[in-house]
Amino acid sequence: MNIRNKLSIQFTVIVATILLVFSTGIYFFSTFYRENDYYKRLNDRANTTARLLLDVQEVDENLLRIIDKNTLALYQEQIYIFDERKRKIYSNTDQEFDLDIIWKDVHEEDVYKFKIKEREAIGFIYKYNNEKFYVVASAFDFYGIAKIKNLRIILIVGYMLSLMFTVAAGLLFSGRALLPIKKVVSQVQNISVSKLNIRVDEGNKKDEIAQLAITFNQMLDRLEEAFILQRDFVSNAAHELRTPFTVLLAEIDYCLMQGRPKEQYVNTLNRLSGEIKKLSRLSNGLLELARISVDNSTFELQTIRLDELLIDTCNDILKSNSDYKTYINFESLPDNESLLHVAGNEQLLKIAIKNLIENACKFSSSKDVFIDFIINHPSISLNFKDYGIGIPPEDINNIFQPFYRGNNTQFFAGYGLGLALTKKIIMIHQGTIEATSEVGKGSVFTLTLPVKQIG
Ligand code: ADP
Repeated sequence: MNIRNKLSIQFTVIVATILLVFSTGIYFFSTFYRENDYYKRLNDRANTTARLLLDVQEVDENLLRIIDKNTLALYQEQIYIFDERKRKIYSNTDQEFDLDIIWKDVHEEDVYKFKIKEREAIGFIYKYNNEKFYVVASAFDFYGIAKIKNLRIILIVGYMLSLMFTVAAGLLFSGRALLPIKKVVSQVQNISVSKLNIRVDEGNKKDEIAQLAITFNQMLDRLEEAFILQRDFVSNAAHELRTPFTVLLAEIDYCLMQGRPKEQYVNTLNRLSGEIKKLSRLSNGLLELARISVDNSTFELQTIRLDELLIDTCNDILKSNSDYKTYINFESLPDNESLLHVAGNEQLLKIAIKNLIENACKFSSSKDVFIDFIINHPSISLNFKDYGIGIPPEDINNIFQPFYRGNNTQFFAGYGLGLALTKKIIMIHQGTIEATSEVGKGSVFTLTLPVKQIG
């Protein structure tokens, strides 16, 4: 069942219950009031009749009957008066009345109320001159009962009409209340991979549905951003792979066209080997990035001494790049060795540090990097400083995106994957990485990792 119908049913049930309680209340109070009122009038009539007959000497039975007939009596009124021995001394009707059948357990001060078929009746003891008289009066409240019947019909018809109106109003209002959601749904249905730029109408920006639309739009913003990144990544990767392949093919075709001297073959093979090395570096970078992006929970975290890892990494780099120079400043190293540990994956942290050192050396003519090892409890920071080409301000915010390279790097080998990989690795380790730079003067990359407490 949809929410609209559910809401209207709930609304109708609530209103129907309130109306039912209200109508039944009115009906029963009116019935109760009519009955009480009628008994009171009956009592007054019977009292007056008894007083006239017994208290007023001038009035005898016949005169009383005449008076009774000519005064405003109740409808089908019957009044009987009996003496102490229950002999009838007066009645205004010819119909007989058996006092003993009705009269049971009545105390003297009581007014006994009872019913004879549809007629309401009362009985009481009237005392006069130390004598007891039994007075019984009955009548039919024709107008009162007719009024109650009318009231019942009005209430039932009114109740039915109100119910019908409530159902219609419930459907109308719930429909109206849910209209914005319907709108959002139809707008969302238009959003597809090719139309990720569409946004949902945020209405008045205040109510709950507007909040939902705003949250949904924010999610779309993030999705679109991720989607564009993904798309750019794929097209960049395709482009980067296509170029070396084209070069390889062109070289091979050229050689195959006709016989060449041996040195030319050697030269061509050397170039091919260079292109294949580049391709291998690129595919390795892509593979690493994909591995980290897909599932970073599979990497084992060990306790690592960061100063040792840094020295190891520098040594590895220097082995394969004899012209690079690394200067590490350990001045702020603490006496307490336990402050030098981080929780991390050795292999990954090495890749990250290696990228930063290699970049610093690669992008500076002096090929050197100055590394500050700073203990900033509860974290450790490594500053990688170089005096190289620097990063243009318009590039600095993008250098951590895959395949992004600064404008000033045309003459430096690379694919723009190193920093993207480094950032991912640092994020896995709950660390941060920031860059500051000035074109022509140099750059500083600051890597911060949380210390792992030992013992
Ligand atoms: P690559 O080094 O292959 O170009 P990276 O992802 O390592 O890719 O770096 C991305 C870009 O960041 C570089 O192309 C360069 O523009 C800029 N960059 C990174 N490190 C430095 C640095 N130390 N000095 C100047 N520019 C740098």
